Amino acid sequence: MRIITTTATRNTQLLCVFVQGAEKISGLGKLDAGTAAAVRQARDDMGSCLGAVGIVHGGRQARRILLAGLGKKSEMTGDTVRFVSGVVAKKAAELNLQEFTVVVPLGGVQDPAVSASQIVEGAKMSLYKFERFKKEKKNIPDVMTLVIKSKSAIPAVKTAEVISDGAIFAKEVANMPPNECAPATLAEIAKKIKNPRLKCRVIGRDELKRRGFGGITAVGGGSRNDPKLIILEYFGGAKSQRPTVLVGKAVTFDTGGISIKPRERMEEMKFDKCGGCTVLGIIKAVAGLNLKTNIVGIIPSVENMPGGGAYRPGDIIRLYSGKTAEILNTDAEGRLILADALAYGEERYSPKAIIDFATLTGACIVALGTNVAGMVSNDDRLAARISESSARTTEEVWRLPLNEDYMGMIKSDVADMKNMGIGAAAGTISAAAFLRNAMRDTPWAHIDIAGVAWTQASTKKKPYNPKGATGFGVRLILDYLQS
Ligand SMILES: [Zn+2]
Repeated sequence: MRIITTTATRNTQLLCVFVQGAEKISGLGKLDAGTAAAVRQARDDMGSCLGAVGIVHGGRQARRILLAGLGKKSEMTGDTVRFVSGVVAKKAAELNLQEFTVVVPLGGVQDPAVSASQIVEGAKMSLYKFERFKKEKKNIPDVMTLVIKSKSAIPAVKTAEVISDGAIFAKEVANMPPNECAPATLAEIAKKIKNPRLKCRVIGRDELKRRGFGGITAVGGGSRNDPKLIILEYFGGAKSQRPTVLVGKAVTFDTGGISIKPRERMEEMKFDKCGGCTVLGIIKAVAGLNLKTNIVGIIPSVENMPGGGAYRPGDIIRLYSGKTAEILNTDAEGRLILADALAYGEERYSPKAIIDFATLTGACIVALGTNVAGMVSNDDRLAARISESSARTTEEVWRLPLNEDYMGMIKSDVADMKNMGIGAAAGTISAAAFLRNAMRDTPWAHIDIAGVAWTQASTKKKPYNPKGATGFGVRLILDYLQS
């Protein structure tokens, strides 16, 4: 869908305006008495219900006028306009329209630039559907026109478009079925992101073995699909500027390995690559915006399968950091491949910060549910900045503690550490403790997206998060990088 901006409403099949209770509706231009009365009636019928829509036929500029309810002013959040814009775009698609127009609210609600971005994000992401394997595809309008009176809000539209495309890209790759998306496929997808400032390197199995990536090669050993370490270097800033390193777990399918998972919902384990997909989406958006900053994406990708070459409970492996890990459960594989990637990222790039994304622990769902991601960090400033971006983007994260007591939970009798904590205690934090052990003192934030990376039974329904992968983290980190 193309997005165009204009300062005055032109003829359109559907003209959408936001309404809030009985407040004056602006953006409809001059209406004849009959249409004005119909609009008032529709508004009264909607009441103050968030996401309610009322359609009035007629008016001079539009075939239809759509009123979209923002709910009560006192209950507005940073997600309200995005959420309602999703409802609006879905309505336009449902009506089989090729184009529709949305009036960006001027002030009152929030800064018009913020509203404009949220409209773009909500509309674009709501119209995304994973349907590359379906013959029959749904209608998507070709054009959304935004009426913006404030010139300063126009650049925000372009930015929001690129960021939404990044999130949609992350969703699309994450939704790919495991038989169609092995680590090598993911590497090919990464290579296709084009930008003169972007370089992609892929390290294959033999080199990984030779160079001591013991976590990645152990976990990838059970699959016929070889593991890959995908590295995307984007240098848009000064050469002397230390990069931000983003690491994303990409287990293209997680059976659990020899510690095999129960069969219920095992098909969802294609989403165990969501962290890596988030990093791909971020890099795509960063490149699309030509940001003047240095970013490195590192994606360890494996398929965790039982097989003759699989690693076993009881094994002791040596990680890239040089430390050894006792394997107690082959389903706790994410921390092993991440530990390699984090150690490599720190050693190779001396980054100013490392942020990792991983569908790491079921314990995170027990602790925080499916609408808030867990964050563990060794740096208060970094954690605070991510929390601020979280508030602005409403991609919610909640920080959990990490102190020496937790570090003690992963001590092993026979190796430097073990890949499980103690029973069911603080599983998200003991996993983070394992990652912490891979690094020296670079400011680091780990974001556990096991609950939020794809829609689950208890996920809050949002029009812009249709069933499947959510692309969580793309909008969050783009805000972080630009703030
Ligand atoms: Zn696992």
